[in-house]
Amino acid sequence: MRRLRNVKIVATLGPASSDYAMIRALFEAGADVFRLNMSHGSHAEQAARHAIIRQVEADTGRPIAILADLQGPKLRVGTFANAGGETLIEGASFRMDLSSAPGDASRVQLPHPEIFAALEPGASLLVNDGKIRVRVKDCGKDYANCVVEVGGVISNRKGVNVPDVVLPLAALSAKDREDLEFACELGVDWLALSFVQRPEDVIEARQLAKGRAAILSKIEKPAAVKAYDAILQVSDGIMVARGDLGVELPVTSVPPIQKRLVRGARAAAKPVIVATQMLESMIEAPVPTRAEVSDVATAIYEGADAIMLSAESAAGKYPIEAVTTMNNVALSVEKDPTYRSVIEASRVVMRETISDGIVAAAREIAEATNIKAICCFSQSGNTASLVARERPHVPIIALTPLMSTARRMALTWGLHNVITEPQDRFKGAVLAAIKAARTDGFAGEEDMIVVTAGVPFNVKGTTNILRVAPCDERLISRVEPE
Ligand code: ATP
Ligand code: MG
Ligand code: MG
Repeated sequence: MRRLRNVKIVATLGPASSDYAMIRALFEAGADVFRLNMSHGSHAEQAARHAIIRQVEADTGRPIAILADLQGPKLRVGTFANAGGETLIEGASFRMDLSSAPGDASRVQLPHPEIFAALEPGASLLVNDGKIRVRVKDCGKDYANCVVEVGGVISNRKGVNVPDVVLPLAALSAKDREDLEFACELGVDWLALSFVQRPEDVIEARQLAKGRAAILSKIEKPAAVKAYDAILQVSDGIMVARGDLGVELPVTSVPPIQKRLVRGARAAAKPVIVATQMLESMIEAPVPTRAEVSDVATAIYEGADAIMLSAESAAGKYPIEAVTTMNNVALSVEKDPTYRSVIEASRVVMRETISDGIVAAAREIAEATNIKAICCFSQSGNTASLVARERPHVPIIALTPLMSTARRMALTWGLHNVITEPQDRFKGAVLAAIKAARTDGFAGEEDMIVVTAGVPFNVKGTTNILRVAPCDERLISRVEPE
């Protein structure tokens, strides 16, 4: 089973996507990575989804990445008596307070005393990625009476931003620490950190994760945009978290920031996800708007590693259609000759190490000749990321003996990840690469592939060997040195 596109698709799981049939259908429609949002649902629910994903992985034989998204210091309203929430009408009064009683059309809990302590009359509160706006009329230490300025549907645990007020925020709350430990023990591949502000926030999470998961920083605070280079350096991946970003900063500043973040992550050979509202209207409708299709396409033209669905797949009416739409947009963009020229014009030229030279040579050979795939052996996934950074026009097969590496790499642009036996001879490696290329339909007996590896095997170090190999094993046995 192989994908016919390079960009990866991340699908958030939730009430609309929790059983085996649905998760399997999402995978088959194109989801490469599943996101568990620790802000919603119990540990038992997350564990059940995790087990189903691993079952789908076993049944399809394809490594799948699981990303656990930690809530971070995000402010949220409580819950409503009516599970569908309430519609707030412009001009109406609406109260937020500390009472845990279920909310209705006139009030809801906001379980954050620190907000009430910092609020002033006249401040605005934004709910649900800024879709609803209420303004404070009067407030006290445990309540705020507001007037609705921009109405809409408010429902359980929607996020709240208070852009006018500076709040003291710790990077990881007690809940985040518990969720982090839970997710690592469960066995997730990526941890996403919300509201990162400083590189120290990432370092702290990494210490807690102890190598059990890779760390992805969500860029959604003005401070993180400013400190981006330093944060990128200590992170394994990046998410352009446009929901909160577009509330914390003017929404018109999001596209240039997205471009800058994607470019920076590509240069660092670290996967970058573009997230939030990509196909928002598909929460309710089976077809996207023209603007949404264009937004998805733009992220692909920019060379993002992955595009993401949030509520569309977690809580929408058309999760499979949303994944299918992303997949079809990717197929359409990636066969456009303009895509190739844009990707090539934005290629990052990094020529510092032997590995850089080998992966560039692999790409150039593939461009100049009729090579069907670049096959790279990678323990940590580092070399595979370098090959992906080249953005070659032929498929990349990343071979690794480590399941954890294969799963993590499911997020990276273009990588088709394959588990192999640990290798000790280059000849064996070439044969394993041929086998992978042929079984998964990348090459036939008459074709040629490029193989890169680090020799001797099992010694940590750089990739130092490149071979152009025919896919006919009989030829290999005759000509290949041990
Ligand atoms: P974040 O800031 O982490 O993106 P979010 O609240 O925006 O948090 P998303 O994962 O982006 O959450 O999903 C969007 C919406 O989909 C949520 O607000 C929620 O209504 C719904 N949703 C997502 N996952 C779940 C879940 N596991 N259980 C219930 N609802 C969910
Ligand atoms: Mg969101
Ligand atoms: Mg967010």
